[in-house]
Amino acid sequence: MWESVIGLEIHVQLNTKSKIFSPASTDFGSSQNTQACAIDLGMPGVLPVLNEEAVIMAIKFGIAIGADILDDSIFARKNYFYPDLPKGYQISQFEIPIVSGGSMEITIDNKTKVVNITRAHLEEDAGKSIHDLYPNESAIDLNRAGTPLIEIVSEPEMENAAEAVQYLKNIHSLVRYLGISDGNMQEGSFRCDANVSLKKQGVDKLGTRAEIKNINSFKYVENAINHEIERQARILERGDKVIQETRLYDPSKNETRSMRSKVEANDYRYFPDPDLLPVCISQDLIKNIKSNMPELPSTKKIRFISQYGLSEYDTIILVSDRELSEYFENTLKTSDLNPKLVANWIITEVLALAKKTYLSVKDYPVLAEDLRYLLSNISDETISNKQAKEVLERMWNNNEKPRDIIENEGMKQISNIDELNKIVDNIIKNHYKSVEEYQSGKDKLLGFFVGQVMKATQGQANPKVINQILKEKLKK
Ligand code: ADP
Ligand code: MG
Repeated sequence: MWESVIGLEIHVQLNTKSKIFSPASTDFGSSQNTQACAIDLGMPGVLPVLNEEAVIMAIKFGIAIGADILDDSIFARKNYFYPDLPKGYQISQFEIPIVSGGSMEITIDNKTKVVNITRAHLEEDAGKSIHDLYPNESAIDLNRAGTPLIEIVSEPEMENAAEAVQYLKNIHSLVRYLGISDGNMQEGSFRCDANVSLKKQGVDKLGTRAEIKNINSFKYVENAINHEIERQARILERGDKVIQETRLYDPSKNETRSMRSKVEANDYRYFPDPDLLPVCISQDLIKNIKSNMPELPSTKKIRFISQYGLSEYDTIILVSDRELSEYFENTLKTSDLNPKLVANWIITEVLALAKKTYLSVKDYPVLAEDLRYLLSNISDETISNKQAKEVLERMWNNNEKPRDIIENEGMKQISNIDELNKIVDNIIKNHYKSVEEYQSGKDKLLGFFVGQVMKATQGQANPKVINQILKEKLKK
């Protein structure tokens, strides 16, 4: 009956060394109020100077999404009062943003859709109000004031929470590929506002939206949107109207609640900042940036499929994270390992260990070259899959080197047919009852015999070879 419509505004902190209009540091986690200088605080007599690096990063992003880079964008003052905004206005871009248009492709269940991007503009971040440090008091930390952001505004084209999350993930992956943001969501480097509205099926006109502010995890975005869709449906079902407002998502209660009624753009009294010149960007600069772009996720995906023969599914997982895709290629490097073997081990075993231990790729205790050594021992059948899993866990948890584990434990897989033949003969001799049962049709007993061989060899027999030998010898 109701169709949901979603548009996202994503705030991405750019990882420049200094602020967008001042030389103060952007480091995260320094002690409070030590990194906001007179310019960030808007003291009288100071003048902002635009950080060129931030402009270059915005251009990189614009090129990557196929947008127009406007060569005369303008900084505007967005006026509002809030304790974490000491200047009384935020420097942003309004009528003419630096990046206009562009799009992002998303794939869900093998279906691909293009989400159009309205614009991306440069702006400064505000400080932070901290409400949970002192009882009955709020604290202000202005370290973040003046940190460069790009705000990426999508068209209202996503139809459900899954599409919105996929779009958000793709943008997250992209800014990390471009190296323009660390994308750290816990630290607030990457956060989004979700605009949600409902309309009757088949109707073109959009319904009234609510905007859920500052969500900083993929899971929360999904929950907040789904929750908001249900809330609005209940309102519309009983014949009431949704009011346009700003809402807050509370993860501990999994609900959204009203924060304030929506402020219209004209309430902000936007006007061009008289202290800043238009941002003139030459075609040469754009060309130069274009020729130094890193490989993007979409291109890498096509390359992985054709170069390594991986499935689309596996490729999407590996390519979603730039560092993971590099880990994969570093593991393969200069080896003749089968790329599918490497992909499988990373996707199933390595990612499972990483999830359990909450580690991201740069903190993996297992280096790509050590994983390569381990996998080459499976490839040449020195050790079995089962043994390799044990080794990997020890590498991961105790920082041991695979060569040491394999050698110290005397791990090796017995694939020698003569040796295994003797062992199997012995077992058959000692279990003639089971042999008879097997031969009279109890196929399941094959597992019992495999188990006996494993026991006799301390788990070192090559299961493939044992199976062959047993089947042959147990034939009537
Ligand atoms: P603002 O929130 O700053 O007032 P915009 O009009 O630029 O500004 O819209 C912001 C976001 O809201 C965009 O991502 C847009 O796609 C989305 N949006 C606008 N109207 C709707 C709607 N009716 N339903 C869902 N999303 C919408
Ligand atoms: Mg908004």
